[in-house]
Amino acid sequence: MAKITFLGAAGTVTGSKYLVEAGGKRLLVDCGLFEGSNELEQRNWETPTVDPVTIDWILLTHAHIDHTGYLPRIVRLGFQGPIYANGATRELCQLLLPDSAHLQEEDAQYIAKKGYSRHKPPMPLYTVAESQAALGRFRDIPRADNFQISSQFSVRPHDAGHILGSTWLELTITENGKQTLVVFSGDLGRYNNAILNDPESPTRADFLLCESTYGDRDHPAGSVEDALADVINRVAKRGGAIVIPAFAVDRTQLILYYLTELENQQRIPRLPVYVDSPMAISVTDIYVRHREDHRLQFQREEELGNRDPLNVREVHMTRSVEESKAINDVVSPCIIISASGMATGGRILHHLAQRLPDSRSAVLLVGYQAEGTRGRALLEGAKYLKLWGQMVPVKAEVVEIGQLSAHAGKSELLRWLSGFTAAPRQTFLVHGEPAGLNGLRDAVTAQFHWPVTIPAYHQAFEFNS
Ligand SMILES: [Zn+2]
Repeated sequence: MAKITFLGAAGTVTGSKYLVEAGGKRLLVDCGLFEGSNELEQRNWETPTVDPVTIDWILLTHAHIDHTGYLPRIVRLGFQGPIYANGATRELCQLLLPDSAHLQEEDAQYIAKKGYSRHKPPMPLYTVAESQAALGRFRDIPRADNFQISSQFSVRPHDAGHILGSTWLELTITENGKQTLVVFSGDLGRYNNAILNDPESPTRADFLLCESTYGDRDHPAGSVEDALADVINRVAKRGGAIVIPAFAVDRTQLILYYLTELENQQRIPRLPVYVDSPMAISVTDIYVRHREDHRLQFQREEELGNRDPLNVREVHMTRSVEESKAINDVVSPCIIISASGMATGGRILHHLAQRLPDSRSAVLLVGYQAEGTRGRALLEGAKYLKLWGQMVPVKAEVVEIGQLSAHAGKSELLRWLSGFTAAPRQTFLVHGEPAGLNGLRDAVTAQFHWPVTIPAYHQAFEFNS
């Protein structure tokens, strides 16, 4: 009988991995990295309970590291099949996976130099070469059309409106002449986003997996522009720097888009913007190539230069460690965007070490900050942040701009669920911390009266009729 095993994002927001088995074949939906507490991150190093050699295919909902960042590791451990994703997801992974490997190699080198490590000698979880090996296994699937994986599995992706290329998946499992429809929400985006399309709604499923990141709350209603302009003007006036933990793709484009708008409307001063990433590039061309995913209007491709809606007037992309260090010497007001988005590692740590003790500066939190991350500690008002064993005082202002979130808030999740014309036989709530999971369970039970399960890590269920 077909079954599903929750190998990640069960009771937590990271490590998305769902193993579906039917007819003796194994399909893994998403292959994410665990991020957050030491205990969670330790799971990335454990020997998998399911031997990667025995997995036939991997299917991705979108490019975020908590859905793809384990791919280089699983390939290293023996996975030999194809990795199915759409073209935009593949192109973003071509940036994100080597970037993730770079960050881990840089961190391992830095830790080796400082002699502070949980592993002796400190090792990266995977290398850039291993990330390239994983990228070599990618195969494009249609953006929104039926794709037959095998006689057991066929998938139809739909727009999830979360990041470029993001999808939710309708997976049809055929076994012994019987069909079962399983919907994987992936991560769901916002309605009325400035760049991305609205999420499409599903109408039916036998079994549903729904993300619950913000299952207990909505995002603030105010405009992004007002919130950003307020903090930028305030910090610029007092001569500080604005540090934004975010990947060099995705949230960064949305931030650059709003900065460009605010500059054009002369609502903020022109500040230098540093996008500090080993893989820093302009991803505009990816947006141009994948117009079906977004609403941005590029005037004419050959004239992109000054008309690029993602280009602020003074943006610096830094690749080398030397260029990155030079940002420390910038004493005038500036904006620094660097990974990782939850300050779990990467170059953002150096910028935080430099700017947190300065009361003129500010840290902007623009994405979800998972339990156990430094980003969450800042959000909860930590007075000190632990960086490489040192306690760094937090004197800078910490501001959350929830309007910039890539995730549907509670009422947006319920709006997406309201498209169903009949109750799924079982709804599994995943990709949430306990508050989000319980909040969404209570709301779904009250509003739709559907049976709801919150699966535990490694728990398995049969898709019985
Ligand atoms: Zn995501």
